[in-house]
Amino acid sequence: MLQTPPLQTSPPTTPSSRNASDARSTIECRDPATGAALGRVSVHSPEEVRERIGRARLAQRQWAETSFRERRQVLRALLSRIVDEQEAICRAAVRDSGKTMVDASLGEVVPVCEKLRYTIRRGARDLRPERRASGLLAHKKGWIEYQPLGVVGVICPWNFPFHNLMCPLIPALFAGNGVVAKVSEWSSWSSAYYLELIRSVLRQHGQQGDLVQVVTGFGDTGAALVDGGVDKVFFTGSPGNGRKVVSESAQTLTPVVLELGGKDPMIVCDDANLDHAVRQAMLGVYTACGQMCVGVERVYVFDDIYDAFVTRVTEAARNLRQGPPLEALVDVGSMTMPKQLDIIEDLLRDATEKGARVLTGGKRNQRAGDQFFEPTILVDVDHRMRITQEEQFGPVMVIIKVRSDEEAISLANDSRYGLGSSVFTQNRARGERMARRIRSGMTVVNDYGIAYMMQALPFGGVGVSGYGRINGREGLRACCHVKTMVSDRLPISAGVSVYPIKKQTYPISAAAVRVLFGSGLKQRVRGINQLVQTWAKPDDRGSTP
Ligand code: NAD
Ligand code: MN
Repeated sequence: MLQTPPLQTSPPTTPSSRNASDARSTIECRDPATGAALGRVSVHSPEEVRERIGRARLAQRQWAETSFRERRQVLRALLSRIVDEQEAICRAAVRDSGKTMVDASLGEVVPVCEKLRYTIRRGARDLRPERRASGLLAHKKGWIEYQPLGVVGVICPWNFPFHNLMCPLIPALFAGNGVVAKVSEWSSWSSAYYLELIRSVLRQHGQQGDLVQVVTGFGDTGAALVDGGVDKVFFTGSPGNGRKVVSESAQTLTPVVLELGGKDPMIVCDDANLDHAVRQAMLGVYTACGQMCVGVERVYVFDDIYDAFVTRVTEAARNLRQGPPLEALVDVGSMTMPKQLDIIEDLLRDATEKGARVLTGGKRNQRAGDQFFEPTILVDVDHRMRITQEEQFGPVMVIIKVRSDEEAISLANDSRYGLGSSVFTQNRARGERMARRIRSGMTVVNDYGIAYMMQALPFGGVGVSGYGRINGREGLRACCHVKTMVSDRLPISAGVSVYPIKKQTYPISAAAVRVLFGSGLKQRVRGINQLVQTWAKPDDRGSTP
């Protein structure tokens, strides 16, 4: 039932591999789980990117005039379409990324639906004009208005093709912007279907489909979007490319929000509910085969429960079924990028050379296909090993034994990343105390990743995990120009008049500072005396002090 028209019809010329960006005009899309060819998309040139930004900008003029009520109607219709078409949406994401239908449902559809629900319910309130104090200028009123930026550029990674496109798009549209999204070269195929879904809803509501554009290509196409004249860029990807985006944006001084990777720690205290901690660790490590920015990359387990925890997760990991997700019922899918398998192997080699042990997995799963890596449990890990520092983005549970809260926190904080994190303990006060001390954008007590499901909460990182926030009020406002407004409260046209400056002008100002800002009666009375004396003096206009 899923029809995925190519973004731009391109002649099926010579076959091209996807992971090279040298002057190729098309990207050949493949299902990473089966290797099956899915189709081709164009590599958009800088000129084509500019042209699409221009089209979005034209359509945005009409969209910017709509009320929040009208935008809510569009979002409601979009939500309803997504609910109706959820299976096709998941299938397209599965084909493009190799994850399971359940991964797609929980990781792509649910957060997008929740974001729509949040924005429909709360968006107008979050972007309502806000009165601010007018201070000493009581005759004036001051407030801020959240205006659209214009056209927002979005640069997406490949791990959640539907979510990565929709989640920045929803607040951007609600705030009155047009959107040009550059999808990843590793998950471009599904984007044509997703784009048409959004556009058809827009058209049904009398808006132009051009308001939303998708461009495809490699890093160069992303770079062309950054300096193509968009008003802000939301980049999600690796720290290395985030750095490139920031330097590209320096040319035009385009503001950038960076959602980069993570190396999320999970601390399992001696008093944790073991069943719950085991289930959450499994979810945190093996969802989407570990290809998640807030995947659990390091598990710190207290020595008292270490053996029990390791036994339980090893047993559970051994039982995970793996294979092409659309062919049989499996628990874990494939890696999306072939390169990721090399990265995981390399990190595992380094760790085992330094004394870590693989209890299960630890190698490619050739029986399942070319791009599968077995669910792996790695123990006896310490911080000399690169796997505690570099994102592995794969199905490896990295387990480290700790002996105290202090040790757990200092190891959790021994990372340049700081995106998500979690602490498991049945002592809530202890959990919150530890959570506060973990250096990361989000910390959850007794759950993994659930911060993302609370769309009212801002999401983002510290350190090399990036800056700026998506989600919640902060994320909606990040799609806005914060416009300061000042107008009259009272019909008084009083204002400071200084010209021509007289000899007593400065003494009057100095005396006024004492009266207005002096602390205590003494300073203020001195100011009043000065004012009276200065006013009493005759005008000697024109002379210098
Ligand atoms: P990536 O950085 O390789 O690519 C991301 C996107 O940037 C792609 O569309 C790519 O074409 C584009 N790009 C590459 N070079 C560019 C350049 N010079 N200028 C502009 N655009 C450029 O990342 P990836 O491998 O697709 O995704 C994995 C990374 O993303 C991981 O580090 C992961 O943790 C992170 N991630 C973060 C979040 C989050 O919300 N914080 C979510 C998902 C993924
Ligand atoms: Mn793909």
